[in-house]
Amino acid sequence: MANEPAMSTANNAARNRNIGPVILLGPPGAGKGTQSRQIVEHYGVPQISTGDLLRDHVARGTALGLEAKAIMTRGELVPDELMYGIVADRLREVDCRCGFVLDGFPRTAAQAGWLDAFLEKEVFDNFDAKADTKSEKPKKCPLIVIQLLVDYNQLLLRIAGRRSCPTCGRLYNIHSQPPLVDAVCDVDGSKLVIREDDREEVISERLATYERQTKPVADYYRGQRRLIAINADRTVEEVTTQIFGVIDSHCVGGC
Ligand code: AMP
Repeated sequence: MANEPAMSTANNAARNRNIGPVILLGPPGAGKGTQSRQIVEHYGVPQISTGDLLRDHVARGTALGLEAKAIMTRGELVPDELMYGIVADRLREVDCRCGFVLDGFPRTAAQAGWLDAFLEKEVFDNFDAKADTKSEKPKKCPLIVIQLLVDYNQLLLRIAGRRSCPTCGRLYNIHSQPPLVDAVCDVDGSKLVIREDDREEVISERLATYERQTKPVADYYRGQRRLIAINADRTVEEVTTQIFGVIDSHCVGGC
Protein backbone atom coordinates (compact mmCIF):
# COMPACT_ATOMS: atom_id res chain seq x y z
CA MET A 1 0.00 0.00 0.00
CA ALA A 2 2.78 2.39 1.00
CA ASN A 3 4.36 1.81 -2.40
CA GLU A 4 1.29 2.72 -4.40
CA PRO A 5 2.05 6.36 -5.30
CA ALA A 6 5.61 5.50 -6.36
CA MET A 7 4.39 2.60 -8.48
CA SER A 8 1.71 4.64 -10.20
CA THR A 9 4.25 7.40 -10.95
CA ALA A 10 6.52 4.80 -12.51
CA ASN A 11 3.62 3.43 -14.52
CA ASN A 12 2.58 6.90 -15.68
CA ALA A 13 6.13 7.58 -16.82
CA ALA A 14 6.09 4.32 -18.78
CA ARG A 15 2.70 5.16 -20.25
CA ASN A 16 3.80 8.60 -21.42
CA ARG A 17 6.66 7.18 -23.42
CA ASN A 18 6.67 6.50 -27.14
CA ILE A 19 7.98 2.94 -27.27
CA GLY A 20 7.68 2.57 -31.06
CA PRO A 21 6.96 -0.78 -32.70
CA VAL A 22 7.86 -3.86 -30.65
CA ILE A 23 7.95 -7.28 -32.27
CA LEU A 24 7.89 -10.46 -30.21
CA LEU A 25 9.22 -13.45 -32.12
CA GLY A 26 9.01 -17.01 -30.98
CA PRO A 27 7.29 -20.33 -31.65
CA PRO A 28 3.72 -21.02 -30.52
CA GLY A 29 3.81 -21.43 -26.74
CA ALA A 30 6.88 -19.23 -26.21
CA GLY A 31 4.77 -16.72 -24.28
CA LYS A 32 4.25 -14.05 -26.94
CA GLY A 33 0.62 -13.54 -25.95
CA THR A 34 1.33 -13.42 -22.20
CA GLN A 35 4.28 -11.06 -22.55
CA SER A 36 2.41 -8.82 -24.99
CA ARG A 37 -0.25 -8.32 -22.35
CA GLN A 38 2.39 -7.30 -19.82
CA ILE A 39 3.74 -4.68 -22.22
CA VAL A 40 0.22 -3.43 -22.95
CA GLU A 41 -0.53 -3.00 -19.26
CA HIS A 42 2.78 -1.34 -18.39
CA TYR A 43 3.23 1.01 -21.35
CA GLY A 44 -0.40 1.53 -22.35
CA VAL A 45 0.13 0.60 -26.00
CA PRO A 46 -2.10 -1.79 -27.96
CA GLN A 47 -1.30 -5.41 -28.69
CA ILE A 48 -1.77 -6.29 -32.32
CA SER A 49 -2.17 -10.04 -32.53
CA THR A 50 -2.65 -11.18 -36.11
CA GLY A 51 -4.04 -14.49 -34.80
CA ASP A 52 -6.72 -12.53 -32.89
CA LEU A 53 -7.45 -10.29 -35.90
CA LEU A 54 -7.93 -13.39 -38.05
CA ARG A 55 -10.06 -15.16 -35.43
CA ASP A 56 -12.23 -12.05 -35.29
CA HIS A 57 -12.74 -12.23 -39.07
CA VAL A 58 -13.58 -15.93 -38.77
CA ALA A 59 -16.09 -15.23 -35.97
CA ARG A 60 -17.74 -12.46 -38.00
CA GLY A 61 -17.85 -14.65 -41.10
CA THR A 62 -16.18 -12.07 -43.38
CA ALA A 63 -14.86 -13.12 -46.81
CA LEU A 64 -11.31 -13.05 -45.40
CA GLY A 65 -12.44 -15.06 -42.38
CA LEU A 66 -14.01 -17.73 -44.58
CA GLU A 67 -10.80 -18.00 -46.61
CA ALA A 68 -8.55 -18.06 -43.52
CA LYS A 69 -10.59 -20.51 -41.44
CA ALA A 70 -9.62 -23.79 -43.12
CA ILE A 71 -5.98 -22.71 -43.38
CA MET A 72 -5.83 -21.85 -39.68
CA THR A 73 -7.52 -25.08 -38.64
CA ARG A 74 -4.80 -26.99 -40.50
CA GLY A 75 -2.14 -25.00 -38.62
CA GLU A 76 -0.77 -23.47 -41.82
CA LEU A 77 -0.01 -19.84 -42.55
CA VAL A 78 -2.55 -17.53 -44.15
CA PRO A 79 -1.12 -16.12 -47.45
CA ASP A 80 0.94 -12.94 -47.04
CA GLU A 81 -1.29 -10.92 -49.38
CA LEU A 82 -4.29 -11.50 -47.10
CA MET A 83 -2.29 -10.44 -44.06
CA TYR A 84 -1.00 -7.10 -45.36
CA GLY A 85 -4.40 -5.44 -45.62
CA ILE A 86 -5.54 -6.30 -42.09
CA VAL A 87 -2.19 -5.39 -40.52
CA ALA A 88 -1.95 -2.05 -42.38
CA ASP A 89 -5.52 -1.10 -41.43
CA ARG A 90 -4.85 -1.87 -37.78
CA LEU A 91 -1.49 -0.05 -37.57
CA ARG A 92 -3.02 3.08 -39.07
CA GLU A 93 -5.40 3.40 -36.14
CA VAL A 94 -4.71 6.29 -33.79
CA ASP A 95 -4.01 4.15 -30.73
CA CYS A 96 -0.79 2.94 -32.42
CA ARG A 97 0.83 6.37 -32.55
CA CYS A 98 2.88 5.91 -29.35
CA GLY A 99 3.89 2.38 -30.21
CA PHE A 100 2.38 -1.08 -30.37
CA VAL A 101 3.30 -4.71 -29.80
CA LEU A 102 3.07 -7.03 -32.73
CA ASP A 103 2.27 -10.57 -31.69
CA GLY A 104 2.40 -13.18 -34.45
CA PHE A 105 3.54 -10.83 -37.21
CA PRO A 106 5.81 -10.93 -39.19
CA ARG A 107 5.90 -14.68 -39.59
CA THR A 108 7.74 -14.89 -42.91
CA ALA A 109 10.78 -13.03 -44.26
CA ALA A 110 8.49 -11.51 -46.92
CA GLN A 111 6.20 -10.13 -44.17
CA ALA A 112 9.25 -8.67 -42.40
CA GLY A 113 10.31 -6.88 -45.59
CA TRP A 114 6.78 -5.59 -46.10
CA LEU A 115 6.64 -4.33 -42.50
CA ASP A 116 9.95 -2.47 -42.84
CA ALA A 117 8.65 -0.64 -45.90
CA PHE A 118 5.31 0.09 -44.21
CA LEU A 119 6.88 1.46 -41.02
CA GLU A 120 9.35 3.56 -42.95
CA LYS A 121 6.68 5.06 -45.14
CA GLU A 122 3.65 5.33 -42.92
CA VAL A 123 4.72 5.35 -39.30
CA PHE A 124 8.25 6.69 -39.09
CA ASP A 125 7.74 9.29 -41.82
CA ASN A 126 4.63 10.61 -40.16
CA PHE A 127 6.28 10.75 -36.77
CA ASP A 128 9.38 12.51 -38.16
CA ALA A 129 7.43 15.00 -40.19
CA LYS A 130 5.37 15.97 -37.16
CA ALA A 131 8.48 16.17 -34.96
CA ASP A 132 10.19 18.48 -37.47
CA THR A 133 7.41 21.01 -37.18
CA LYS A 134 7.99 20.98 -33.40
CA SER A 135 4.50 19.76 -32.72
CA GLU A 136 4.06 17.52 -29.71
CA LYS A 137 3.76 14.39 -31.77
CA PRO A 138 6.12 11.54 -30.96
CA LYS A 139 9.53 11.23 -32.52
CA LYS A 140 10.75 8.19 -34.34
CA CYS A 141 11.52 5.30 -32.05
CA PRO A 142 13.44 2.36 -33.49
CA LEU A 143 11.82 -0.99 -34.10
CA ILE A 144 12.57 -3.43 -31.27
CA VAL A 145 12.68 -7.12 -32.14
CA ILE A 146 12.73 -9.54 -29.22
CA GLN A 147 13.10 -13.26 -29.76
CA LEU A 148 11.75 -15.55 -27.02
CA LEU A 149 13.84 -18.73 -26.84
CA VAL A 150 12.24 -21.82 -25.29
CA ASP A 151 13.27 -25.48 -25.11
CA TYR A 152 11.22 -27.69 -27.51
CA ASN A 153 9.85 -30.05 -24.81
CA GLN A 154 8.82 -27.07 -22.69
CA LEU A 155 6.91 -25.74 -25.68
CA LEU A 156 4.96 -28.97 -26.16
CA LEU A 157 3.99 -28.93 -22.47
CA ARG A 158 2.99 -25.29 -22.57
CA ILE A 159 0.83 -25.56 -25.67
CA ALA A 160 -0.88 -28.78 -24.60
CA GLY A 161 -1.70 -27.17 -21.23
CA ARG A 162 -2.91 -23.86 -22.62
CA ARG A 163 -6.48 -22.77 -21.94
CA SER A 164 -8.10 -19.45 -22.72
CA CYS A 165 -11.18 -17.54 -21.71
CA PRO A 166 -13.55 -17.08 -24.67
CA THR A 167 -14.97 -13.91 -23.05
CA CYS A 168 -11.98 -11.82 -21.86
CA GLY A 169 -9.14 -13.60 -23.68
CA ARG A 170 -7.10 -14.25 -20.53
CA LEU A 171 -4.62 -17.11 -20.92
CA TYR A 172 -4.00 -19.92 -18.43
CA ASN A 173 -1.86 -23.02 -18.31
CA ILE A 174 -3.04 -26.07 -16.42
CA HIS A 175 0.61 -26.85 -15.45
CA SER A 176 2.15 -23.46 -14.73
CA GLN A 177 -0.66 -20.89 -14.39
CA PRO A 178 -3.87 -22.71 -13.48
CA PRO A 179 -7.11 -20.83 -12.78
CA LEU A 180 -8.28 -20.66 -9.16
CA VAL A 181 -11.20 -22.97 -9.97
CA ASP A 182 -10.62 -25.80 -12.42
CA ALA A 183 -11.53 -24.83 -16.03
CA VAL A 184 -13.17 -21.54 -15.00
CA CYS A 185 -11.90 -18.00 -15.75
CA ASP A 186 -10.80 -16.11 -12.59
CA VAL A 187 -11.97 -12.81 -14.08
CA ASP A 188 -15.46 -13.47 -15.41
CA GLY A 189 -16.32 -17.08 -14.56
CA SER A 190 -16.54 -18.25 -18.19
CA LYS A 191 -15.74 -21.87 -18.96
CA LEU A 192 -12.17 -22.05 -20.31
CA VAL A 193 -11.60 -23.51 -23.75
CA ILE A 194 -8.79 -25.16 -25.71
CA ARG A 195 -8.15 -23.29 -28.92
CA GLU A 196 -8.96 -25.36 -32.01
CA ASP A 197 -5.33 -25.15 -33.20
CA ASP A 198 -3.87 -26.01 -29.76
CA ARG A 199 -5.18 -29.56 -30.12
CA GLU A 200 -2.45 -32.17 -30.01
CA GLU A 201 -2.79 -33.27 -33.62
CA VAL A 202 -2.29 -29.67 -34.84
CA ILE A 203 0.52 -28.64 -32.47
CA SER A 204 3.33 -30.51 -34.24
CA GLU A 205 2.23 -29.02 -37.58
CA ARG A 206 2.30 -25.52 -36.11
CA LEU A 207 5.78 -26.06 -34.69
CA ALA A 208 6.99 -27.50 -38.00
CA THR A 209 5.50 -24.50 -39.83
CA TYR A 210 7.33 -22.23 -37.40
CA GLU A 211 10.65 -23.95 -38.01
CA ARG A 212 10.17 -23.84 -41.77
CA GLN A 213 8.81 -20.36 -42.28
CA THR A 214 9.37 -18.16 -39.25
CA LYS A 215 13.02 -18.85 -38.46
CA PRO A 216 14.00 -16.87 -41.57
CA VAL A 217 12.33 -13.87 -39.88
CA ALA A 218 14.78 -14.13 -36.99
CA ASP A 219 17.62 -14.44 -39.52
CA TYR A 220 16.29 -11.37 -41.32
CA TYR A 221 16.42 -9.22 -38.18
CA ARG A 222 19.70 -10.77 -37.04
CA GLY A 223 21.14 -9.62 -40.36
CA GLN A 224 19.95 -6.09 -39.51
CA ARG A 225 21.53 -6.41 -36.04
CA ARG A 226 18.14 -5.77 -34.48
CA LEU A 227 17.47 -9.16 -32.93
CA ILE A 228 17.56 -9.34 -29.14
CA ALA A 229 17.30 -12.92 -27.87
CA ILE A 230 15.84 -13.60 -24.43
CA ASN A 231 15.77 -16.88 -22.52
CA ALA A 232 12.01 -17.44 -22.11
CA ASP A 233 12.33 -20.74 -20.21
CA ARG A 234 12.12 -18.67 -17.01
CA THR A 235 9.05 -17.54 -15.08
CA VAL A 236 6.63 -15.05 -16.64
CA GLU A 237 7.81 -12.33 -14.24
CA GLU A 238 11.49 -12.89 -14.99
CA VAL A 239 10.92 -12.75 -18.73
CA THR A 240 8.79 -9.61 -18.36
CA THR A 241 11.56 -7.88 -16.39
CA GLN A 242 14.04 -8.64 -19.17
CA ILE A 243 11.65 -7.34 -21.85
CA PHE A 244 10.95 -4.10 -19.99
CA GLY A 245 14.70 -3.61 -19.60
CA VAL A 246 15.16 -3.91 -23.36
CA ILE A 247 12.32 -1.49 -24.12
CA ASP A 248 13.42 1.06 -21.53
CA SER A 249 16.97 1.12 -22.82
CA HIS A 250 15.84 1.59 -26.42
CA CYS A 251 13.23 4.29 -26.24
CA VAL A 252 13.83 7.79 -25.05
CA GLY A 253 11.08 9.78 -26.77
CA GLY A 254 7.97 11.01 -24.99
CA CYS A 255 4.51 10.56 -26.37
P1 AMP B 1 -1.56 -17.35 -33.46
O1 AMP B 1 -2.73 -17.02 -32.59
O2 AMP B 1 -0.60 -16.21 -33.58
O3 AMP B 1 -0.86 -18.63 -33.09
O4 AMP B 1 -2.15 -17.57 -34.93
C1 AMP B 1 -3.12 -18.55 -35.19
C2 AMP B 1 -3.12 -18.87 -36.68
O5 AMP B 1 -3.44 -17.67 -37.43
C3 AMP B 1 -1.79 -19.32 -37.25
O6 AMP B 1 -1.57 -20.70 -37.04
C4 AMP B 1 -1.94 -18.96 -38.71
O7 AMP B 1 -2.79 -19.89 -39.39
C5 AMP B 1 -2.70 -17.63 -38.66
N1 AMP B 1 -1.77 -16.48 -38.60
C6 AMP B 1 -1.57 -15.63 -37.54
N2 AMP B 1 -0.65 -14.69 -37.83
C7 AMP B 1 -0.25 -14.94 -39.10
C8 AMP B 1 0.69 -14.33 -39.98
N3 AMP B 1 1.46 -13.29 -39.59
N4 AMP B 1 0.82 -14.86 -41.23
C9 AMP B 1 0.10 -15.90 -41.63
N5 AMP B 1 -0.81 -16.54 -40.84
C10 AMP B 1 -0.99 -16.07 -39.59
